Amino acid sequence: MPSNPDVIVVGAGVVGCSVGYYLARRGVKVMLLEKEAMGSGASAHATGFLSLLGAEFSPGPSFEMGIASYKEFDHLADDLEQLTGIDLLFQRRPSLRLALSDDEADLIQDMMVWQQEKINMHWIDGDEVRKIEPRLSQSVIGAVYEDESIQLDSYRLNLALGQGAESLGASLVQREVVGLISDGNRITGVSTRSGDVYSDSVIIAAGTWSRVFSSFLSFPIPVIPMKGERLQLRFDGDPLEVLISSPKRGHMISRMDGLLSVGSTGGRDYDERELFGGEEFDRKPSQSARLELLQRAIDVFPGLEDAELVDQLAGSRPLSPDTKPIIGPVPGWDGVFIATGHTTKGIHLGPITGRMISEWYLDGKCDCISNVDLFLPDRFSDTDLSSFYRASKLVDE
Ligand SMILES: Cc1cc2nc3c(=O)[nH]c(=O)nc-3n(C[C@H](O)[C@H](O)[C@H](O)COP(=O)(O)OP(=O)(O)OC[C@H]3O[C@@H](n4cnc5c(N)ncnc54)[C@H](O)[C@@H]3O)c2cc1C
Repeated sequence: MPSNPDVIVVGAGVVGCSVGYYLARRGVKVMLLEKEAMGSGASAHATGFLSLLGAEFSPGPSFEMGIASYKEFDHLADDLEQLTGIDLLFQRRPSLRLALSDDEADLIQDMMVWQQEKINMHWIDGDEVRKIEPRLSQSVIGAVYEDESIQLDSYRLNLALGQGAESLGASLVQREVVGLISDGNRITGVSTRSGDVYSDSVIIAAGTWSRVFSSFLSFPIPVIPMKGERLQLRFDGDPLEVLISSPKRGHMISRMDGLLSVGSTGGRDYDERELFGGEEFDRKPSQSARLELLQRAIDVFPGLEDAELVDQLAGSRPLSPDTKPIIGPVPGWDGVFIATGHTTKGIHLGPITGRMISEWYLDGKCDCISNVDLFLPDRFSDTDLSSFYRASKLVDE
């Protein structure tokens, strides 16, 4: 194993690799420790849709964090492509958030009240929607038109962040972290299955698995896996010109490799049995999701009746009790930080998380967004399973 680093990051998903990349950019010697393979967790299964519309961001600091991370992509995508040669299949396009029922129209218009103060969007009716994309169903009654959203391949982003960190001096080692090492109230390293590694600081960015470090720290890290599935289809005809989503039917996005991503399951319309089934269940694509997602897609775009199913992906999002990420130092300890709980927005929020943790580590405070307190690990005094069930109803997909 390489010699002892300044910082150990546990977990090499998009969040861990973002943390590694932003720290390495500021000259910190980082070691990323990953139990399986880079991008083997939720990050490889995500749609890679970065939109500020939808239920995931709430007014105030959460929305501000969404905007700040979105802005990181102004340079991040180019920087990573230049540094690593990995094509992120990155696209910026207008997006439509569709309503096929009055319920959906109400959900969307309620959110517009505060969202349109910050981003360019406006309501259009069903006929205007079909002028933009004539293949969409007559059942579409209207949509919010957003001038610009982003979509990229989340697995490639994960690889590029990891490889980018490596090219800036980080090491990436495949080892499971099985414990933390401490000296009094200072964390001084980690134990792996093949020996100990020492460092100034440890960042826990292990997605839904972060919770296992709670017992060592005697501090709650409240995340549980919330299953999500999506499909990739091939259909005859031109790709969609706009990025499409809807509160109840999820997304429909023509990727830059020509495949159409549709999904995802999970969120407000699912019950506990469908969302929280345990680790084996989480990774297994299910027939029920396949049939449901195909039907939902055909409802929106009837021409998909003859589409070919190319791939079905299943993964689990790290759900926090308020759906917002948990980022910052662990109270009562020196040298340990948490970066997890990004729920349905870890690809979108990965970069700002990397920047926040690099500020916490190097500057002792985090100034890149205001109200960082709202994301600190100590905000949950009391959580039980019912907190997670309530949280799962707050997200669209
Ligand atoms: C179907 C679906 C669609 C989604 N779509 C979007 C989207 O469009 N936009 C968006 O922003 N987000 C989306 N998400 C959510 C997003 O995928 C997650 O929020 C994000 O990937 C979480 O990243 P992470 O790095 O925290 O976790 P993960 O990607 O799960 O990474 C955690 C890593 O830690 C490793 N690890 C765990 N324990 C240890 C240990 N003890 N030692 C070493 N390594 C360890 C794991 O092996 C894993 O590689 C979607 C998710 C799903 C399932």
